[in-house]
Amino acid sequence: MVLFKTIAALRSHLEHQRNKGRTIGFVPTMGALHNGHSSLIRHSLEQGHYTVVSIYVNPTQFNDPVDLEKYPRPLSADLELLNQIGCNAVFLPGDSEIYPVEGVTTTEIDLQHLGDSLEAAFRPGHFEGVLQVMHRLLDIVNPDFLFMGQKDLQQLAVVRQLISEAGFTTRLVGLPIVREENGLARSSRNERLSASERKKAGLIYKTLLETSNASHKSSLTELKFSALERLEKAGLRPEYFEFVRSDNLRLVHSREEYDGPITIVTAVWVGDVRLIDNMEMA
Ligand code: AMP
Repeated sequence: MVLFKTIAALRSHLEHQRNKGRTIGFVPTMGALHNGHSSLIRHSLEQGHYTVVSIYVNPTQFNDPVDLEKYPRPLSADLELLNQIGCNAVFLPGDSEIYPVEGVTTTEIDLQHLGDSLEAAFRPGHFEGVLQVMHRLLDIVNPDFLFMGQKDLQQLAVVRQLISEAGFTTRLVGLPIVREENGLARSSRNERLSASERKKAGLIYKTLLETSNASHKSSLTELKFSALERLEKAGLRPEYFEFVRSDNLRLVHSREEYDGPITIVTAVWVGDVRLIDNMEMA
């Protein structure tokens, strides 16, 4: 496994791999790696791509300074895991590499409803930061394939739009959510939960599952309110629990409005940690 801290060195290494006929698979991360990340990396490796993982905690996508400060950064454990998995190259840029004083373009993409609903509504500026860093990383790595998790469903849709509008030829592949034993979606932020919070957070998955299974017994409004009530009664603090069209993430309020595939999306505070999850309805 080769480590790079500068854009120039990484670019010339990847050029060399391309000249040898390798396709490039890219997995951008913010580190504190877990099984969710490794499933993306393994997928890329299994497809035979020369696989690059970036670890960069992007400050511009954090709307909450406390969240940024508390974000875990266990770099040596991350590198050990990447080495074990058989990752080919790791990109570890500093802030000045990603955001030099001059020369970074801001990314103006019209996100439409993705820019003001769900995560965008509760985390102002978050997707602007995601667009900025992903535009930069795609410019630097120029991968053939980009692997991202469906856990961050809205992010996936935002990056899909970036790729299409900015004219990248990269193919974006969204991969399924990896969960802990009690169903809690794996997340670097889970590390900040106490043992009892972590146990309690399994209710998010249970609620999604039961809502999904009850989908033909009640209206979407009834399902939403009983899910919110259930989470709140257990001491969790849901920010939203909504139904969206699976194809474009537009909100759906009733089945009369839309009868195609629907995904349930939610954001829930457990103590001082904000978690997101989603599930396609049965
Ligand atoms: P992050 O380090 O949180 O920015 O995540 C890096 C990538 O890993 C993103 O594409 C995430 O969607 C993906 N990811 C994070 N958690 C999971 C998970 N539990 N299952 C699948 N992919 C995940």
